[in-house]
Parts: sequence; structure tokens; C-alpha cells
Amino acid sequence: MKIAVSACLLGINCKYNGGNNYNKKVVALACDNEIIPVCTEVLGGLPTPRDPSEIADGVVKHKNGESVDDEFQKGAAAALDIVKKNHVELVVLQSRSPSCGINEVYDGTFSKRLIPGEGVFARLLRENNIRTVDVSDL
Ligand code: SF4
Repeated sequence: MKIAVSACLLGINCKYNGGNNYNKKVVALACDNEIIPVCTEVLGGLPTPRDPSEIADGVVKHKNGESVDDEFQKGAAAALDIVKKNHVELVVLQSRSPSCGINEVYDGTFSKRLIPGEGVFARLLRENNIRTVDVSDL
């Protein structure tokens, strides 16, 4: 099976703070499946490390108010292209990310408050009927 995963889950240091979200269940998937890592924020041209971002009123912004929505949209579109071209059957996504979160995201106030919602890439995958799973549900 071809599975795309949030690249940070494989231990790739593409997270906003320069770290990763290494998850051994995701790495174990590589034994029986073809794994394709994608990081939409990097694909969108953002540097690592970078300022944290949250979605406020439908727009992705840094804490200082600067919009990075274009970069997030561009990266999500590029990642969707990779998913489609590779005929990926499932995408495993990091929780709570403004790109990859499926069930909940931070509320845009940078106060660690979570609300029901989805990241930019997660939304695009849903709109394209591509199967996703939150890593916490693996
Ligand atoms: S955009 Fe997704 S893959 Fe990239 S660091 Fe954030 S959660 Fe991980």
C-alpha cells in the first residue's frame, strides 16, 4: 500500500521549531508499505525553523499577525499533487497542526487552546476524497 505521511512523523526535522514528531508506529508502517513523506509547510517555501502559525478567521498567520496563508495553500496544493501522482491510498497526519491537523487545531490566539477544526492540507485531502488518519488514531 502507498501511504503518505507528515514528514515530521518519520523523524525529519521539518517542524516549525526545527525538531520532529518521530513516531515509531509510523516508522513501522515502512516494513510493509511504501511510505512517501510530505511536509506542506516546507513545500510552500517556508524556512525551518520558522515562527509558529495558527489559523485565525480562516487565515494562517504567524503570532506577529503576518499572513503565511499563501505559503500554506501553495504547499498543500504541492503535497496534494504528490499524493495524486503517486496514487497514495492513505495519508497519516500529525495532530493539531495548522497544516496537517484532522480533528482539532489551535484557535488562532497562540494560547494553546484547541478547537474542532482542520489544517489546510487536511482540508484539501478531505475535499479530494483522500483517506486520512490522525497519527493518534493509528
Ligand atoms: S506541516 Fe505537517 S509535516 Fe510539516 S512539520 Fe507541520 S505537521 Fe509536520
